[in-house]
Amino acid sequence: SRFDSYFLMKPSDVIEYISEKMPAFKKEHQLTCTEIGDGNLNYVFRVVDETDGASIIVKQAGDTARISDEFKLSANRIRNESNILALQAKLAPGLVPKVFLYDDKMKCCIMEDLSNHVILRTALLKFQVFPNLADDLSTFLVQTLLMTSDIVMNHKVKKEQVKAFINPELCEITEDLVYSEPFNDYQNRNILLPENKAWIEKHIYQDKKLRLEAAKLKFDFMTNSQALVHGDLHTGSIFVRHDSTKVIDPEFAFYGPMGYDIGNIVANLIFAWTNAAFTLSEGASKPWFTDWLEETITQVIDLFSEKFLAGWKTNAAEIMAKEEGLDHWYLETVMNDTAGIAGLEMIRRIVGIAKVSDITSIENIKLRVKAERFCLQTAKTLIINRQNYKCGNDIIKLIKDNF
Ligand code: ADP
Ligand code: MG
Ligand code: MG
Ligand code: MG
Repeated sequence: SRFDSYFLMKPSDVIEYISEKMPAFKKEHQLTCTEIGDGNLNYVFRVVDETDGASIIVKQAGDTARISDEFKLSANRIRNESNILALQAKLAPGLVPKVFLYDDKMKCCIMEDLSNHVILRTALLKFQVFPNLADDLSTFLVQTLLMTSDIVMNHKVKKEQVKAFINPELCEITEDLVYSEPFNDYQNRNILLPENKAWIEKHIYQDKKLRLEAAKLKFDFMTNSQALVHGDLHTGSIFVRHDSTKVIDPEFAFYGPMGYDIGNIVANLIFAWTNAAFTLSEGASKPWFTDWLEETITQVIDLFSEKFLAGWKTNAAEIMAKEEGLDHWYLETVMNDTAGIAGLEMIRRIVGIAKVSDITSIENIKLRVKAERFCLQTAKTLIINRQNYKCGNDIIKLIKDNF
């Protein structure tokens, strides 16, 4: 078969590929295929059987990032993604796409089509609300983080997992883009709005206190093998429907700080809040959306805490985890990390190379300048004073005070 050695597929190749690999799609002449990827790294193909509407997804990794040839990456990252999706499906049933086949030769993964869902970032930019979002996300977080940690797992088995999911290449991207470049632009890749250039140089690049805290957090990211984190849990990695939530794209997964995932969700929900707060005109629909979003941010954090403590009680296997008060102390460190990492994500998405549409889609330049400064100011407080943030309301109070 011509699919025995790797090449980057075009839609016509994918049709032939699927008809060869998936018995339910073997009638090649009935299939159509479109490339629907919109991420920074990979190619995503949707194959449809036009006679009955059945559909399937093929995600293939290239040798470089899709966003820029500058990022040379092993296509093996899709193997990590497939393995992680299988593990997450066991830990958090129903909250990730089903994987049908992983192909190590073609560096691709055949998975469930979630086109009946929408990407959360896109939906939030249309001011849509999802009543189960916080409940589902907090379940996903507790099940994938607590249950893969030393609190619950046999320590030797856990160490084997740390090794299996080591992921140095994609961790390096995060170490650069999130933890280094936003503070000193050492690779000259930052992209600043001209109107905010001087402000960012003064309040980010030259803020020694901020840079020191970012440096501390960077060492924590590199050394704290706390739990199996998703590693890229922004609102573009979450598919939603009124009655369903699915987390996709775990190729950055590795053993890192729990707060990395929670902080990413919180930061990206704050971006959606910022877009609404700065662009929606005053009127009944504005608070209808922003109140729901504030409640969702609060609940992601507070339901996480509640489920984490309950899960600890039921599942803790580590003998010293039963010492009175350890659970609350541990949770507080996770909350502090969450605040700090939310701040880092907010800074890097405005200063660094990979932007978010919540901010870049603000067309009125004066509003965009203000929105960026609001996010950066909020982010600085979250990083520098991260030990003050213990529950959802602490963060909501900060964004409302700063607005
Ligand atoms: P990348 O790693 O390049 O960021 P993603 O996994 O985030 O790739 O996928 C990019 C886009 O492809 C998503 O935003 C979504 O629109 C689409 N997509 C990815 N997986 C699926 C799926 N299982 N079903 C439907 N669409 C998908
Ligand atoms: Mg993605
Ligand atoms: Mg995407
Ligand atoms: Mg990805």
